Amino acid sequence: MDGEVNKIRKEWMSVQYLYEKVAYLRGLAEGLEIDDSTKEGKLLKSMIVVMEDMVDAINENTEEIEEISSYVEIIDEDLSEMEDIVYDEDDDEDDYYDDEDFEYIELVCPSCGEEISVDRELIDDGEVFCPNCEEKIEI
Ligand SMILES: [Zn+2]
Repeated sequence: MDGEVNKIRKEWMSVQYLYEKVAYLRGLAEGLEIDDSTKEGKLLKSMIVVMEDMVDAINENTEEIEEISSYVEIIDEDLSEMEDIVYDEDDDEDDYYDDEDFEYIELVCPSCGEEISVDRELIDDGEVFCPNCEEKIEI
């Protein structure tokens, strides 16, 4: 229903419609033999000329808007492609930190006796250094 209303409205607003209406007025003025030697006739014919100029201006604006719209569409597509790239990287990083495998193990350093938290992955790699005394911890 809304689509139908929009379609009618779009048709109403279309440049083609305006051209047809103004052309109709010009034909009407000629058919009615509007005499432009009278004040009223001069005004009416001038109004039609102004309306024709207005429709020309609207036509130019509409073409320009369509051009800009398609350009904006291209920019929008490029932007969402870039967003995909940028946010995908962020997602990967988040995944890494949210990863369930990312797990801390509580240890007591044999060198200084300080209680420390060590990432399990570092323990698996066998490269654990105490953040307190900086000694390597053998596990
Ligand atoms: Zn230590």
